[in-house]
Amino acid sequence: MPTPDALDDLITYLDASPSPWHAVESTLERLDGFALLDEADAWSDVPARGVAVRGGALVAWRMPEGPIAAHAPFRLVGAHTDSPCLRLKPRPDTGGHGWRQLGVEVYGGILNNSWLDRDLGIAGRLVGGDGTATLVNVAEPVARVPQLAVHLDRDVNSNGLTLDPQQHLTPVWGLGTPTPGEFALWLAGQADLDTPPSWWELCLYDVQGAAVLGADQSLLASGRLDNLLSCWAATRALLDAEPSDHVAVIVLNDHEEVGSSSATGAAGPFLQAVLERLVAARGGTDDDLHRALVASACVSADNAHAVHPNYPERHEPGHRPAVNGGPALKVNSNQRYATSGTTAAAFQRACEAADVPWQVFVSRNNMPCGSTIGPITSTRLGIPTADVGVPQLSMHSARELCGTDDPVHLVAAAAAFLAGA
Ligand code: ZN
Repeated sequence: MPTPDALDDLITYLDASPSPWHAVESTLERLDGFALLDEADAWSDVPARGVAVRGGALVAWRMPEGPIAAHAPFRLVGAHTDSPCLRLKPRPDTGGHGWRQLGVEVYGGILNNSWLDRDLGIAGRLVGGDGTATLVNVAEPVARVPQLAVHLDRDVNSNGLTLDPQQHLTPVWGLGTPTPGEFALWLAGQADLDTPPSWWELCLYDVQGAAVLGADQSLLASGRLDNLLSCWAATRALLDAEPSDHVAVIVLNDHEEVGSSSATGAAGPFLQAVLERLVAARGGTDDDLHRALVASACVSADNAHAVHPNYPERHEPGHRPAVNGGPALKVNSNQRYATSGTTAAAFQRACEAADVPWQVFVSRNNMPCGSTIGPITSTRLGIPTADVGVPQLSMHSARELCGTDDPVHLVAAAAAFLAGA
């Protein structure tokens, strides 16, 4: 078992972060002593500890207390704030046959079946006519996607469950006749607004909180472990790391689950803009920026697949990460992961400095390999990157499963890396 305060803090972070915008808020709460800079202001006098926020994304940095060279390199740890889920449509009021229902859009690659028969809350942000956004979190069972009874689907256990995302994933949220505008009015009441918001970006989520599981308390069950676990670990690591002659940075991007191409995704300009401004603010030239980037290094943290006891044949036999065996280095020679020989060695050094075990993950050749923000960040900025991740089961389920030791292992390894090990 890891130290209880760290695990408790992770559970608090997971439960308080049902949307990417809440994850940013939870991270800001932990970055005690970090000044929040507005991207729209001039960055002439940048503090040694600072943070910038863009929508559901965040970049925070920590410099040495003393003077630092204009071309000082960066040590980065990246993760993503978004998780696959169901999101409310702009005109969600729907239903029939005596039921009131909510129209939803599928965000990212959810496991459809995992959203059935769960008590769902609603969280995200509301935007007023003037463009100001406020967070809202209705942390109560409001909606549910009810599964068809086995008596009405006799072959489901032999033929498998087929769900049409338009027809079969529409949650119920009450009885009666649906009325246009009803959800907006209800939402305004929940958020203490006089009038309904102009727009919303709202995620449904399982209101069951994160829980330690197993007779030996070795497991952690929660929604959004992919990839809030890594966001939390990056944040804790930045607080723990003392940079020497470089700048420690964490970047938490949005929209990884839908390809990262957005203003707040890893393919967007956010991280690059912040790094450029950090160099410029200490009087650095373009040449200093390029010197800094080429000498920098990045660890991209996103959960990996642990070996599944019921499906061991789905894993590459020589590379089956075990739960609580430490973070896995993710390797793919076709560059679905950015890990190279030199970046793998760098992460291995960080694990050894932190006295943390590590493992290796490689996909089977006959199974497509996933990807993450690592190759995108590396392609954009040319920074050598290692893709790593805590092994978990049930990735993209509404409720995932990992070990209780691995999150703390990742914090220690990431902190050693950020500190320059
Ligand atoms: Zn992920």
